[in-house]
Amino acid sequence: MNRNEADKAVSPSAPSLLSMEIGSDGWCLQAQRHPSSNCDPRAADVVVDLLVIHNISLPPGQFGGHYIEDLFANRLDFKADPYFQQLQSLRVSAHFLIRRDGMLLQFVPTVARAWHAGVSCFAGRERCNDFSIGIELEGTDFIPFDPAQYRTLALLTGALRTRHPLTTVVGHEHVAPGRKTDPGPFFDWDDYRKLCIANAKASTGAGCAGMALRFHGDASTTPKTDA
Ligand SMILES: [Zn+2]
Repeated sequence: MNRNEADKAVSPSAPSLLSMEIGSDGWCLQAQRHPSSNCDPRAADVVVDLLVIHNISLPPGQFGGHYIEDLFANRLDFKADPYFQQLQSLRVSAHFLIRRDGMLLQFVPTVARAWHAGVSCFAGRERCNDFSIGIELEGTDFIPFDPAQYRTLALLTGALRTRHPLTTVVGHEHVAPGRKTDPGPFFDWDDYRKLCIANAKASTGAGCAGMALRFHGDASTTPKTDA
């Protein structure tokens, strides 16, 4: 069994998850943990109120395997693919990765700062890593994401909202325009929003929690004071 098959072997339970929980230590109880050293403490007074959605695949367009975990662990074999050469100086991470089959991996606890957004700005606030949680979807800018990924993402979003006062979800492309393009045109913001609202209704009977979260594309996510 190669590594790719091994990944698949542990994944079937993920799409059928019905709920998720983020512990007080910032680790999701249902995620497969791959702790990364590419993180640092958040400022004591910071309010984590932003969710940033990304896409990643290594090499680009190829799914499965262990290269994303390796990159976040600073152990990527740079000779394994020509594309990896340009990643040699990177020290990056995200809090979460959602595989094509919906499996959830976590690298950094949400109480810490992951290094996912880089130079970025939201509503006039720079360095989005300081006050955001980063979620990578395994994918590219050029093909649709899998329904299983949306299901996991919506469950995770709901769980994160019970632990952090999230107000807004944006894409990396929205906080680093001109520099980043992910999650890209195939990420379906409308489907994602609907799933979040449906989950909130199912868990609370009201759905108001889901609707209070602002998603990119909502009129209210365009900050009036943003430069
Ligand atoms: Zn990104």
